[in-house]
Amino acid sequence: MKVFKFGGASVKDAESVKNVALVLESQGFEKCLLVVSAMGKTTNALEKVVHFYFNKENYQAEIQAIKSQHIHIAEGLFQAKHPVFSEISLFFDDVESFLRRNKSPNYNFVYDQVVSCGEMISSKILSEYLNFLQFDNQWLDARDYIKTDNTYREGTIDWEKTKNNIDTLDKNSCFVTQGFIGSEENSFTVTLGREGSDYSAAVFAYCTNAESMTIWKDVPGVMTGDPRKFDQVQLLSNISYEEAIEMAYYGASVIHPKTLQPLKQKNIPFYVKSFVEPNKPGTKIGNSDLNQKEESYILKENQVLFHIDTKDFSFIAEDHMSQIFSLLAEYKIKVSLMQNTAISLALCVEDKYHHIEDFINKLKSNFNIEVNKNVSLFTVRNVKMNTIEQFYKGKTVLLEQIARQTLQMITLP
Ligand code: ADP
Ligand code: ASP
Ligand code: MG
Repeated sequence: MKVFKFGGASVKDAESVKNVALVLESQGFEKCLLVVSAMGKTTNALEKVVHFYFNKENYQAEIQAIKSQHIHIAEGLFQAKHPVFSEISLFFDDVESFLRRNKSPNYNFVYDQVVSCGEMISSKILSEYLNFLQFDNQWLDARDYIKTDNTYREGTIDWEKTKNNIDTLDKNSCFVTQGFIGSEENSFTVTLGREGSDYSAAVFAYCTNAESMTIWKDVPGVMTGDPRKFDQVQLLSNISYEEAIEMAYYGASVIHPKTLQPLKQKNIPFYVKSFVEPNKPGTKIGNSDLNQKEESYILKENQVLFHIDTKDFSFIAEDHMSQIFSLLAEYKIKVSLMQNTAISLALCVEDKYHHIEDFINKLKSNFNIEVNKNVSLFTVRNVKMNTIEQFYKGKTVLLEQIARQTLQMITLP
C-alpha cells in the first residue's frame, strides 16, 4: 500500500480539503493510508488552551474559537444536517469535560490529552468528506495502533506493539488516520513532538511495508533552501536518505528529522511533492543521489549559545562532559552544535521546553557560563571552498565550524 501524509497547510480551509481530493484523484485512490495533521495552525491554538488552563485564564473562549473555525470549514464541505457537525462538537465537549475534571498537575500529560484533538477532528472531517465523494475509506484512531512509552510530548515508539497492531489492517483497503499521536499502555494519548506527523506516516509506512510514502507540501519538494528565507533556491529532484536526514537534522523543516530512519531501514521510496501541482515529480528520496554535490542552505533561528568554562582552570574532561550532557538530557535541551577547547565547551542548543534557566542554575556552581540568547545557526551543506567568503559578509559570527563539506556558523540575528 501507499502512505500519503497531508500536513496542516494542505487542510487549512474547506478549499484545501477539496484540493486533497483532487490530489488523490490524480494519484488514484486505492490501497492507501492517509495520515493527516491538524488544520492550519490549530496545534498552536490548542497549545494556548493548555497555557491558559494552567494560568487560570479563560481557556473556554479559546476552545470555542477553535470549534467555530472547524465548524466553518465543515460548512464549506457538508450539508447542514451531516453527522460530522455533532462529531466535531463531541470532540470539543470531550476536551472541555477533560479539563473540568482533570486533577493532574502534569503539564505535559494535560498538553497531550488536549492538543491531540486537532488531529482527531481534521482526520474525521477529511475521512467523512472523502467518503461523501465515494473515496471509500475507514477512519482509524491512530492511538489504537501507534503505541509509545509515557514520555508525554515526546513519545518513544514501542515498535513491537505498534507493528503487531498495524499488521491487523487489511492492506487492500483505504484508511484515514491522524499524524502526531499515539498512546501509552493505559491508553492515554501521547504526542510524538511538534511537526511529528511526517514521523507518524513513516511509522505506518514501515509497519505496512509500504511501496512508497509521499508527504504533500506547499513547496515543489525539497529545495536547496527554505524558499521563505532564501532567494533563488532550486528543487532537489533526487537525494539520498543520508542527505535528507542530514538536512532535516540541521533544521530543514520541510521534513521532520525522525522520518528518515524507518524509511531507510526498509528502503521505502520517499517523495516530497507539491499539493498545488501534484503531477510534478517533486523530490525523490532513496538510495541514489543525483543531486549529490548541490550546495544547500539551512537557517535555524532562536538558538541559544553557551560558553561553559571550568572555574578552576581544569580541563573540560569526560566527567564534566557527562555531567553537562546528563543535565541536557534531563531538561530535554537539544544540542545543535558543539565545540570544545581545553577549558571551555561551546554549545548551541534549542530550548523547546523553556528549561534554559534551570539548566544554568544547576551548572553555575561548578562552571562559569556565558549565554547568548536568540542567535541563529546557519548551515551550508556541500559548501564550495572557493566561494566560501560570501557567507561571512555582513554577519557577526560568534562561532564557526567546517567539517565534511558542511559549514556552520552561529550568528547574531
Ligand atoms: P506541513 O504542512 O506538512 O506541516 P511544513 O510547513 O512543516 O509542512 O513544511 C513545509 C515548509 O517547509 C515550507 O513551506 C517551507 O517554508 C519549509 N522549508 C524549510 N526548508 C525547506 C527546504 N529545504 N525546501 C523546501 N521547503 C522548506
Ligand atoms: N499538528 C502537529 C504540529 O503542528 C503535528 C504536525 O503538524 O506534524 O506540530
Ligand atoms: Mg508542519
